[in-house]
Amino acid sequence: MQSSMIGKIEKAHRYAEEPERIRFRSLEAEFRGSHDAYTVRLVGDAWDCSCNTFASQAVGTCSHVMAMQQILSSMLPDSARFRTADAGSS
Ligand SMILES: [Zn+2]
Repeated sequence: MQSSMIGKIEKAHRYAEEPERIRFRSLEAEFRGSHDAYTVRLVGDAWDCSCNTFASQAVGTCSHVMAMQQILSSMLPDSARFRTADAGSS
């Protein structure tokens, strides 16, 4: 293998240990919940989920979105990280 590629692989390993280097601007994922599979989306700093809880509650979150926020925390802009329902106005 070329030495330049070995260097790139080593760099990739270092990057992989520093997920805060990565910022998701958008994503779409299938989330297999306990009862059904849902589509979770992030566009900019706005989350969306296809589940009934997200659609029926004014808080703009659900267990699927909150789980994604925990998993991806270091790769999300501050505005898309976990917030409690009353944190939006502060
Ligand atoms: Zn949901």
